Amino acid sequence: MLKVLILGGTSEARRLGQQLAADARFDALLSFAGRTESIADPGVPYRVGGFGGIDGLCEHLRRERYGALVDATHPFAAQMSRHAASAAELVRVPLARLEGPPWRPVAGDRWVEVATMAAAAAALGSDPCRVLCTVGRLEVGAFAAAPWHEYLVRAVDPFEPPLPRARVIAARGPFCVDEERALMEREHIDVLVSKNSGTPSTYAKIIAARQLGVRVVMVCRPSLPAVTTLSAVSEAMIWLERAWVEADHDASTTKRGV
Ligand code: NAP
Repeated sequence: MLKVLILGGTSEARRLGQQLAADARFDALLSFAGRTESIADPGVPYRVGGFGGIDGLCEHLRRERYGALVDATHPFAAQMSRHAASAAELVRVPLARLEGPPWRPVAGDRWVEVATMAAAAAALGSDPCRVLCTVGRLEVGAFAAAPWHEYLVRAVDPFEPPLPRARVIAARGPFCVDEERALMEREHIDVLVSKNSGTPSTYAKIIAARQLGVRVVMVCRPSLPAVTTLSAVSEAMIWLERAWVEADHDASTTKRGV
């Protein structure tokens, strides 16, 4: 059996974990950062919490004898991806990143693309507007720099936003286009702020904004180390099947003393 550590946080990580759990060649563990109060049970073996930096991840990979590492974290979880790249190189564990392409604007989209959350706050402009903020609890603080807007912050868990004119709606996706449209219409949203996760399961808000002519401030992905990148769960399965064949071959060669 090939032991596979999947760094999770995305629906693709869950799907890969479920496919591996149903395949006798693999023994996979899904790892979550633990950013939400409760984790929706993925139905496969999982662990929660950091490893303790690069050293901790190296130690974990060595101790548990992992044969492959799949970085299927959220595209904005850059620190974890950098740690994965360093640890995989140090421990010599094959690493692949599972990440689909970013969203691209299409006809009808009214996007302003920015590189940072601070730039996103600035891009809202000087005229007060009603903002639907979907960048996650950890990043909302950046919008304190533009306190004249009214913010509706959507996050998985309720929290006290560090903004004067903000309300929080706690909700866990995926959401459909009709739900997103209804929310934007009911709340008279002028601007949507989103990270360019590229995730199909969160794309409905982008379609709804297009249909309603709502402006979108789109935060671009951070740059990540260059590693083997696979854009779909099916590609990750093929990559892992190859890793399994190589590991099996290495094991037989060692057994025969070749
Ligand atoms: P991060 O800044 O890349 O990671 C910070 C630390 O969290 C890592 O160094 C690691 O701790 C731990 N960690 C992250 N992902 C992990 C995983 N899959 N398994 C075990 N430990 C993990 O990531 P972040 O703090 O979670 O979030 C950064 C950005 O990504 C935010 O903008 C957030 O909204 C977005 N995001 C993250 C997730 C998620 O599931 N993490 C989901 C959606 C969006 P150690 O150094 O101790 O190993």
